[in-house]
Amino acid sequence: MGEFDLIARYFTRPVRRAALGVGDDCALLAPAPGMQLAVSCDMLVEGRHFFADVDPEALGHKALAVNLSDLAACGARPLAFTLALALPRADEPWLKAFAGGLLRLADAHDCELIGGDTTAGPLNICITVFGEVPAGGALLRSGARAGDDIYVSGTLGDARLALDALRSHPQAAALSPALLATARQRLERPTPRVALGLALRGVASSALDVSDGLLGDLGHILRASGVGARIELAWTTDLIAGYAVLTRASAEFDADYLEQCVLAGGDDYELAFTAPPSLRDAVAAAAQASGARVTRIGVIEATPGLRLVDARGLPVTRHYASFDHFA
Ligand code: ADP
Ligand code: MG
Repeated sequence: MGEFDLIARYFTRPVRRAALGVGDDCALLAPAPGMQLAVSCDMLVEGRHFFADVDPEALGHKALAVNLSDLAACGARPLAFTLALALPRADEPWLKAFAGGLLRLADAHDCELIGGDTTAGPLNICITVFGEVPAGGALLRSGARAGDDIYVSGTLGDARLALDALRSHPQAAALSPALLATARQRLERPTPRVALGLALRGVASSALDVSDGLLGDLGHILRASGVGARIELAWTTDLIAGYAVLTRASAEFDADYLEQCVLAGGDDYELAFTAPPSLRDAVAAAAQASGARVTRIGVIEATPGLRLVDARGLPVTRHYASFDHFA
């Protein structure tokens, strides 16, 4: 199968909303009047972001999910994406499964594949996603103000637990096969919080998606906004309470290790955001409308820096490094 047969068979579909899709030198997008295009790009590299033997269907899902998560963090509605693909060989069963996972998630978000590039090489997947947001209405990292509440959606830590178990990390060894299967879903098939991001337009003062670990990612909001934060560790335990894996597994796990998974785990693709206390009802309504759980974990303060306090309000120190490819 040649390059163009491959593109035609697996990555070409009827155009829906775009003005022009796959097949010409450029695709054409027509943003609606009064809207801005939100653009984000994420690359997945074998051996770095996924294991060589990962299920290709899950890989297709994740490659788009991590990009949709960036749109969610900005409160943008998905429109379209491009796919740059380097493949060691044209393996048809692999391509069929990969395209299946990718395009099922794309259809669920009405986000169409409008172009890309295909080349031979070490497996590498790079997606650029386009969304739309009312002009001036994007959720940014820079909008947090002293006094704002800090929230996190969903639960945190399961992806890290699964990754550690798959790498035979001794502290994750207690994970039973059944719990590993559930945690692995969070690692390999993350759910982008698109509906929540849309519901938070006009409500959240700042937002980002948690991909490299909560504390490190929160630091981006604090620096961009020129503020600090107090995080109540007693409240962050709620981030593990609702979801099956960490809760059911917790008896077998070291409490410090679990805390590290929650606060610095990475690959969660939940949203962290801030909102003024006057909008608590609006935050609750956004959570309700989007079907995502939201937990308040702390408050923005004027003094720069991230301060952690325990259940008695006493300061505690943690030294979790956020993920950094070149650190
Ligand atoms: P060009 O040489 O002009 O860059 P290509 O020959 O690389 O174009 O691609 C032909 C068409 O197929 C283009 O419209 C391109 O956007 C599309 N395309 C290439 N690879 C992919 C892919 N993996 N997924 C979707 N569309 C693709
Ligand atoms: Mg090309």
